[in-house]
Amino acid sequence: MIVTMVDTSKLQKIACESIENASGELHKLSQEIWNHPETCYEEKFAHKYLTDFLKEKGFKVQPDIGDLGTAFRAEYNCDVKGPRVGVICEYDALPEINHACGHNLIAEAGVAAALGIKAAINATSNTLGGLVVLGTPAEEGGGGKIFMINEGCFADIDFCMMVHPTAFNSAAPLVLGCHHLDITYTGHSAHAAAFPWEGINALDAGVACYTSLSMMRQQMKPTWRVHGVFKHGGVKPNIIPEKCVLKYYFRAPNNNELDDLLLKAKGCWEGAAQATGCSVKIQSYNFGKKEEFYCAMKHNKILSNLYQQHAESFGIKFLPNGIAEATLLGSTDMANVSLVTPSIHPAFTINTSAAIHTREFNKAAGSPEAQSYTRIAGKSMAMTSIDVMAKPELMEAVVAEFNQV
Ligand SMILES: [Zn+2]
Ligand SMILES: [Zn+2]
Repeated sequence: MIVTMVDTSKLQKIACESIENASGELHKLSQEIWNHPETCYEEKFAHKYLTDFLKEKGFKVQPDIGDLGTAFRAEYNCDVKGPRVGVICEYDALPEINHACGHNLIAEAGVAAALGIKAAINATSNTLGGLVVLGTPAEEGGGGKIFMINEGCFADIDFCMMVHPTAFNSAAPLVLGCHHLDITYTGHSAHAAAFPWEGINALDAGVACYTSLSMMRQQMKPTWRVHGVFKHGGVKPNIIPEKCVLKYYFRAPNNNELDDLLLKAKGCWEGAAQATGCSVKIQSYNFGKKEEFYCAMKHNKILSNLYQQHAESFGIKFLPNGIAEATLLGSTDMANVSLVTPSIHPAFTINTSAAIHTREFNKAAGSPEAQSYTRIAGKSMAMTSIDVMAKPELMEAVVAEFNQV
């Protein structure tokens, strides 16, 4: 069926039907990824599955981006002039708890949206605009999207969208900025029984730092988050540990508050060094060419409102206004994308009360009950894209909001 450009509701119906018709393939896609959990930059199975799938659907696939072998860009109808939407697929898992963040469903929802948008493009004789599916690896601490931004992957995208499963529905949840830091103490080894006074104990420095940061929490704002683990704390009880490494995330809702938080934290890690006689080195995770961090998310309100309206048309119940934007989802490198092109990152429920990063959520992300919710999220993204692509005045308003805030 060929329909006119402005007939958005018909295009949206075509998009939703094509997603529903592909429900079997979509379920299989997320099941395959769920059954092969792969962490940060090791997502070879998911990468091959997704790129093969999109090739078969007629997308032009660039199978790697710069040095990132598990990233991809898949284009459809990008030769035409007109708005170009970017749809994100994440697919990395977590160590030990597998798909406890449900990124298999993010890949499924992204592909679902892409199939729907593609059907709508076809229905307009390819005049609606262009579509790019971005395969973004290593969201869990590897900053895949930051590398991809530096490679110019988002430079030709007019607006961008992804969704994230969790235990609540919010079209614009709170997404904090996040610094990922390694705190390394260096002391001096010695025999722990014969010559303990010759040693400088780096593990003690690490413990002092950990407890100081824990005490600091009492004076933190409710939206700040500080959490860390010990990665190295010595090798043998009879050797005074000469090295201790802690990995910490420091999060706050904006850059100024992140600076305030890091200044307070600096007192903790430096104080521990002084108390024990160790030296301390702080290292940011190195995303891309320069030291970067996960920014706070800048949701495009026009896009997130459209997404919510469409999801509500399927009966999805969102958190009330005011609460929805204050409910914390975490941090993501999608926030960095939101600073280079108008973007959304809605949160959607999958019929579980389990929190993300739990073994229970991993189970829920692989359950059949998650499927209808994931398809609705994909449909809502497709319908939002069609609204914006078919109405130049809406595209202009989206860009105007992006430039204003
Ligand atoms: Zn996660
Ligand atoms: Zn996640």
